[in-house]
Amino acid sequence: MKILVIEDESALRETIISYLEGEGFLCEYAGSLESGNEKVCLYEYDCILVDIGLPDGSGLTLISKLKEFHPETGIIIISAKNSIDDKISGLDLGADDYLTKPFHLPELNSRIKSLLRRRKFEGKQAVVIENLTILPENRQVFVGNELLQLTKSEFDLLLFFTSNRGRVLSKESIAEHLWGDFADAADSFDFVYSHLKNLRRKLTEKAAKDYFQNVYGTGYVFMAE
Ligand code: CA
Repeated sequence: MKILVIEDESALRETIISYLEGEGFLCEYAGSLESGNEKVCLYEYDCILVDIGLPDGSGLTLISKLKEFHPETGIIIISAKNSIDDKISGLDLGADDYLTKPFHLPELNSRIKSLLRRRKFEGKQAVVIENLTILPENRQVFVGNELLQLTKSEFDLLLFFTSNRGRVLSKESIAEHLWGDFADAADSFDFVYSHLKNLRRKLTEKAAKDYFQNVYGTGYVFMAE
């Protein structure tokens, strides 16, 4: 994830950059409107943080340009002016978010992450259950902003359960769904049990709820709205 920080106060800029790099982002910077414009024309970024009060003009002018040339780039305004007018014009021009200085770095971080997450999911079919997001096309599962590392069977299992919410699924039907004709193998129920155990552990470790309930002697049910 590449971020461009356009900010003329060098101390603040360096603090932001070192924090974001610690969070795993790649950062570049510009200290003026002109150099910001130049970078935006030459390179692509996932997200741009732009100050409004720059020495050679208003950061707002950059927003409409960005929207025209790189509509997929996320834009967060960072401004010292706590002016509602600036905020409204910034958002009208197409900025995604607005932070007033001084702000806490973790706040900036969570705004960036939620912005990137919203953009990533745009136009894609997502199954969202509270803080759990499943992207069937990409075969990805997120708890909050965090991507889970699931095996193929764990992913298939989760998708099967979430498409059958509130229904009791027998071990037989789960095994058949996961392995088709091979489900007859004597130990396939043990496999179901261990895949499900690992899936539940991975989900709850990341603070997702445990939606699975055992139905004694029958199977399992995924309880969620
Ligand atoms: Ca400034």
